Amino acid sequence: MIIKKRSLPLEIQLLEALSRRLPVSHPKYTLILENLAKKRAGYHGEKAIDYYLDFISNEKYLILQNLRLQDEKGYFQIDILIVSTCFLLILEVKNIIGTLVFDPQFHQVIRILDNKEEAFPDPLLQIDRQTTRLKTWIQEHSYTHNIPVESLVVVSNPHTIIKATTKPQLIAQKVIHSAYLPSKIKSLEILYSSAILSTKEMKKLVRYLIRKQEDEQKKPLDYYNIHPNEIIKGVQCSRCRFVPMNRQHGLWFCPACASSCKSAHIQAINDYALIISSTVTNQEIKQFLCLSSSATTKRLLSPYANSGVKKQRRYVISQ
Ligand SMILES: [Zn+2]
Repeated sequence: MIIKKRSLPLEIQLLEALSRRLPVSHPKYTLILENLAKKRAGYHGEKAIDYYLDFISNEKYLILQNLRLQDEKGYFQIDILIVSTCFLLILEVKNIIGTLVFDPQFHQVIRILDNKEEAFPDPLLQIDRQTTRLKTWIQEHSYTHNIPVESLVVVSNPHTIIKATTKPQLIAQKVIHSAYLPSKIKSLEILYSSAILSTKEMKKLVRYLIRKQEDEQKKPLDYYNIHPNEIIKGVQCSRCRFVPMNRQHGLWFCPACASSCKSAHIQAINDYALIISSTVTNQEIKQFLCLSSSATTKRLLSPYANSGVKKQRRYVISQ
């Protein structure tokens, strides 16, 4: 049973907003697009696993997707955590096309695509770290039961070829194609046949993990070293991407393609929330939407919760 379903990660929403709001000529623009492509591939890879999770999502297993926990070293993220009464299973999903060559000697993965070689961080080291951190986290949060924690790298694209420079049997134990996941879980069921937790304790652990979820709070402008003045202001046309649309008679008009839209400002407000701040004053959003009237701005902000009075009034625009 999938208990915690993934939503479009905040980081992807952020990068999408930045890609809309940075000039193409900006020095960080290409990096933003590259990071966005990587994050989207990762997200689609995780979604592709859902089909196989359906085979195992019965009463025995509780499944958490996109779990983000905090320990003294900072945040750690688990793509998929499968919880049973006998063991926990961490899945690290990799959506990488081409041929993946695992090199356990140098702890690296080489991707070969179109005769080009590219090195990736070793996902086997990654799952080892996640296992250690999750075990410690569970112990420190007063779950003293010594439940085994297993981990696997799941390659989500069925066309990706998996190879190893040495120890192929060892790699095959830890790296699988998604279609093999249900069989792999069956073999873990045989390996860990005795229950460490009662069903009640298992559900309690899952509830606790969900409650301790940490939200990602990245400040994108600091992270990418972008000045707020470099962010493109204005309402963007969804048809031709022109900025800014003009407000006329309660509608947004695009001077480039002549289309009109009633709600085009909503995406601009969301972009502001993602990139700059989750709360705004009338004056701030008026400038960002390139409006001249505070009364119009007030009308557009009316659906949002607010506190404070007059010029100090702040609207909560986070999604
Ligand atoms: Zn347009």
